[in-house]
This record gives sequence, structure tokens and C-alpha cells, in this order.
Amino acid sequence: MNNQPVTIGRIVHYVARGSADGRYPSTCRAAIVTAVDHGQPALAVFSPEGLFFSDPLPHADAEPLTGGTWHWPTTHQDSHRHA
Ligand SMILES: [Zn+2]
Repeated sequence: MNNQPVTIGRIVHYVARGSADGRYPSTCRAAIVTAVDHGQPALAVFSPEGLFFSDPLPHADAEPLTGGTWHWPTTHQDSHRHA
């Protein structure tokens, strides 16, 4: 599953960066792949605060999850710890 190529239109998790003061922790958001550049997806990210559009991002599903990365929802458990 981790090895499958990311393609336009797939739904993934975007790991949002937390605030610098730690008040808002890093967390996953739903995102749709809008473009793929050298294997890295650009995303339309859906968060409760609204939509935003990212540049191509690196994959990461190691824990703790790093802000500014993406991973497959199917590799993600609710028990995932976020950075
Ligand atoms: Zn996730």
C-alpha cells in the first residue's frame, strides 16, 4: 500500500503544521491530489478553517508525523501520534 504511486484525484492525509507556540498541535487533514511532480503530490487541503492549496510535498508516515507531509489514510490509525 505504501508503495503505490500517488495519482491525481486520490484522497490523502495532509499533516498540518502546529502553531509555533504549541497551542495548536500538528494534525491530519483530508486532502485531494491536484498534481504530481516527481512523485510528490500537490494538494487541495480541506480543514475546518477552510481550503488551501499546497506545493508538492514529501511523503512521510513515520511517527511522530511531521508537519508539511502527506500519507495514505489507510496507513494511518487513530492512535497515530503527531509531532
Ligand atoms: Zn493521517
